[in-house]
Amino acid sequence: MSERSPDGVFREGLAAGELRFQRCRGCAAAVFPPRALCPSCGADDLAWERSGGRGTVYSTTAVRGRDGVRNVALVDLDEGFRMMTRIDGTAPDEVAIGTRVSFAVVDEDGAPVAVFREGAA
Ligand SMILES: [Zn+2]
Repeated sequence: MSERSPDGVFREGLAAGELRFQRCRGCAAAVFPPRALCPSCGADDLAWERSGGRGTVYSTTAVRGRDGVRNVALVDLDEGFRMMTRIDGTAPDEVAIGTRVSFAVVDEDGAPVAVFREGAA
């Protein structure tokens, strides 16, 4: 288990429909994106946890690309980590900061991708 890379463990979680993050056993910080060392205290003792998948939009941008406009958002998860993702199911330029959102996994070209949708207690 410890031989797998942090990113590998995270992607396995996505494939199982789970949003995984790490928590430092040294200072209790929630750590994301997955990594080998705690960015707060430098400890290498990070434990995996499964997020409840509820969060709040911290920032949101509508990005215009070749395939049209897409959303890029930062979501603050209730467990205390921040994640770059996108909000699905809402027009890319109509996502509002402070909106409660919930985690979902969508399949994109055969790979599971983490997104969020409006609506969470
Ligand atoms: Zn730490």
